[in-house]
Amino acid sequence: MNLVFLGPPGAGKGTMATRLADDLGVPHISTGDIFRAAVANATELGKQVKAIMESGGLVPDELTIALVEERLKESDTAKGYILDGFPRTIPQAEALDGFASIDHAVRFVLEEAELIKRLSGRRVHKPSGRTYHVEFNPPKVAGKDDLTGEPLIQRPDDQEESIRNRLEVYEEQTAPLVSYYADKGTMVTVDAAPKPDDVYASLKTALGL
Ligand code: ADP
Ligand code: ADP
Repeated sequence: MNLVFLGPPGAGKGTMATRLADDLGVPHISTGDIFRAAVANATELGKQVKAIMESGGLVPDELTIALVEERLKESDTAKGYILDGFPRTIPQAEALDGFASIDHAVRFVLEEAELIKRLSGRRVHKPSGRTYHVEFNPPKVAGKDDLTGEPLIQRPDDQEESIRNRLEVYEEQTAPLVSYYADKGTMVTVDAAPKPDDVYASLKTALGL
C-alpha cells in the first residue's frame, strides 16, 4: 500500500508512520528526517536547507521533488511505503502523481492549541529519529533515549517563533492538499486527538487493516 500522511506539524504523523511502517514492513519516508540527516552530516544538500528549516519555511519544491523521486526508485519501496511530510505543496502533489500511484492520503486532524503543546514538548533522539514528549510520551529516564540512553534534544524548529511560522506555512501551502486528495476520493480522515494507541487503532480501521 502506498500512503501519504497529511496534516499539520505536531499532529502525530511521524509517530503513527513509524508504527505502521513497522507493522506493514514498508519504509517510512520522512522528507524532514532526510533533510535533518543532510544537515547533521553537513552535506551539500544540508548546507542548502539548514537555514530554511530552522526558520520553519519550506525547502524549494524542485529540490524536494527530485529527492523523493530518487528515494522511491529504491527496491525497499516495492511492497509499499509511507510518505510523511511529502507532498507539502500543490506542485509537489502534482509531481508525485507523475511518478507514483498513491492508494490513500491519510489526513490527521488536531486543533491548533494541541499542536502547539505537542510541538513545544517534543524531544527527539537525533541518530534514530525516535520521538518523545515530555508530558504525553515521556522517556523512561527524563532526557534520555529508551533504547540507547543517549541524550534527547529539542529540534531548533520546535522553538516558539519557528512553531508559529510553521503553522502559518501549513495553512497557506499545505492545507490546500486536503481538497486535492479529497477530490480524488482516496482520502481518509483520522482524529489525532486521542491517546496514541487509540489514534493508531482508528488509523488501521480507516485503512481497512
Ligand atoms: P513536522 O513533522 O514537524 O511537520 P518535518 O520533520 O516534516 O516537520 O519537516 C521539518 C522541516 O523540513 C519543514 O519545516 C521544512 O523546512 C522541511 N521539509 C520537510 N518536508 C518538506 C517538503 N515536502 N517540502 C518542503 N520542505 C520540507
Ligand atoms: P508530526 O510528525 O505530525 O509533526 P510527531 O509524530 O512528531 O508529529 O508528534 C508530535 C509530538 O506529539 C511528539 O512529541 C509526540 O511524542 C507527541 N504525540 C504524538 N501522538 C500523540 C498523541 N496521540 N497524543 C499525545 N501526544 C502525541
